[in-house]
Amino acid sequence: MDNTYKKIHQSSIVVDLHNDYLEERVHHPEHRLFSNSKHHTDLTRLKAGGVNVQFFVIWTRPDEHDDHFSRAMELIELLESDVAECNGEIEFARNYNDIISVVNREKIAAVLCLEGGQLIGNSIDNIDNFYERGMRYLTLAWNYGTEWCGGAKDEDDKGLSPFGKEVIDRLIKLGVMIDVSHVNEKSLQDILDYTDATVIATHSGAYNVCNHKRNLSDEHIKEIARRGGVIGSVFYPSFLNGTDQATIADVVAHINYIRKLTGSVDHISLGSDYDGIDLVPKGLENVSKFPNLTKALYEEGYSADEISKILGLNALRVFMTICG
Ligand SMILES: [Zn+2]
Repeated sequence: MDNTYKKIHQSSIVVDLHNDYLEERVHHPEHRLFSNSKHHTDLTRLKAGGVNVQFFVIWTRPDEHDDHFSRAMELIELLESDVAECNGEIEFARNYNDIISVVNREKIAAVLCLEGGQLIGNSIDNIDNFYERGMRYLTLAWNYGTEWCGGAKDEDDKGLSPFGKEVIDRLIKLGVMIDVSHVNEKSLQDILDYTDATVIATHSGAYNVCNHKRNLSDEHIKEIARRGGVIGSVFYPSFLNGTDQATIADVVAHINYIRKLTGSVDHISLGSDYDGIDLVPKGLENVSKFPNLTKALYEEGYSADEISKILGLNALRVFMTICG
């Protein structure tokens, strides 16, 4: 049996740009990072999956909280205490050197990120507060957007407001990555018209492979690539093939498409959305299964260098450039 893929996986820095561990954790406190979670994510399985850098998402459901900022701060504290329970096996990282240092010591680097503009509570200063706590990307909208940036499931076709432009200015100034997954078409175009900055889409697919509102048009994929950004391959079956069932081949189909469209693998990353999705592709059931994707890419003919870029180097390149 050809085990080359295992060597490629082990020698690569594996970066997952999007994990909603906290969402399951809040509802099932007994399943924690340090213990054996029944959900998609825990320390044992992160190690088994060869995950080196995990972006952990802070998210609040827009209709569930009045004070999203305070709730987000509570969630950050919860994540910090869960990470502390892992006896040093997971360490928070705030910049590129932190990440490399943690990875070199064979620990897992955790990076904090926020999903949804509601979290900043209409205050630019709150962006600074989150930055101080370690936030290194902000997903500008969730499915339902805010007054200042439209979401993919909003009924209206809202664009980016003047306040939304202020948000973008502050993110750029601080060195926080701008995530456009979940943002609606109109707002995404407004963002790209407003700034020349590199943007990322942490967990999205290609619309021309699966015509779901959460996926990106060819034009937007090409523009994200032109600016040096990345698109994190998402594992949610609805976004992959429009059904409740998907396989690794469906994930590879989006990767193949984006490579062909943009001319290289340089703008493809991982953004599993584990614990934020109720259904997963066969063979990618939880965070321990990332090597199966490496195997599939290898069998598809991707070179070791290309696979390492997809698994992590592309995401690290953008992180280093923007976050320092
Ligand atoms: Zn999401």
